[in-house]
Amino acid sequence: FVSAQEGAASGVTAVAAPRRENAYTQRFAGQLVLVTGAASGIGRATALAFAGAGARVVVVDRDAEGAAGTAESALEAGAAEAWAETVDVADEQAMETLAEKVTAEYGVVDVLVNNAGVGLAGSFLDTDTEDWKQVLDVNLWGVIHGCRLFGRRMAERGQGGHIVNTASAAAFLPSRTLPAYSTSKAAVLMLSECLRAEMAGKGIGVSAICPGIVDTGITSTARFTGVDAVEQQRLRKRSARLYGLRNYRPEKVADAILRAVLTNRAVVPVTPEARVAYLLSRLAPGA
Ligand code: NAD
Repeated sequence: FVSAQEGAASGVTAVAAPRRENAYTQRFAGQLVLVTGAASGIGRATALAFAGAGARVVVVDRDAEGAAGTAESALEAGAAEAWAETVDVADEQAMETLAEKVTAEYGVVDVLVNNAGVGLAGSFLDTDTEDWKQVLDVNLWGVIHGCRLFGRRMAERGQGGHIVNTASAAAFLPSRTLPAYSTSKAAVLMLSECLRAEMAGKGIGVSAICPGIVDTGITSTARFTGVDAVEQQRLRKRSARLYGLRNYRPEKVADAILRAVLTNRAVVPVTPEARVAYLLSRLAPGA
């Protein structure tokens, strides 16, 4: 456990440069925001965006060093307080311990962003049971644990809150290249809509964020099952054709997440390609 706040108090953190005002300045002042998978990519950008909006930020990742780095940067970006917690979101007991600790030491989470995820590419028939389990354990069960453990505490407090789950355009685009990943994200999309219906009466919003291709580590670290290097290149090209030829910046997704919380949107396809795919999937279900 690293407390970036302690670092700041003991003079470890550099004095922050003057910050530019933006649309979100102080919009989340005093609010406790927890982001999973925040050591890098979209999660890191999201933690920093909430930090810039004055939030108190809990950075969660299984990568301890990366999480500590994000917490330090969050303080520099304007977070009122920032902490790093090393947790595997797929581990229910570890998530329970996290929820207890965060609630006892920092308070009830106002905004939860279940963002941690892993990629896996390859054909359905070549994906073995262990691979399916690994993807579903992180991408689906990680989100279920977060929603249930932190959602219950939000509901018990009775003062509203918001849960954001990072799904993907893959949730509504059937694909030959990403069967396990797409299945996990479709499940995240559906569970978000079910939870939204249940939480509406409690004043708690739930949003599913669906980016297209974003320039982060996941596109290079995603594993391939049962395919050689040449086939991997072919799959990458096929993926690009399906999800969009342009790589977007993680900050674009972070911005969409903050807006989704402020406007309480249900499903947010982030990139133009994702928006077109979402519209088509709604117009022609099952096509
Ligand atoms: P990334 O690899 O940069 O970030 C993922 C983070 O999750 C990493 O810091 C990693 O350490 C962490 N993580 C992975 N498994 C974990 C676990 N079991 N417990 C705790 N932390 C864990 O990739 P990213 O693109 O920023 O991914 C963030 C989310 O966005 C994922 O859910 C991903 O599926 C989704 N997404 C990404 C894209 C894209 O093109 N990059 C598109 C759509 C959706």
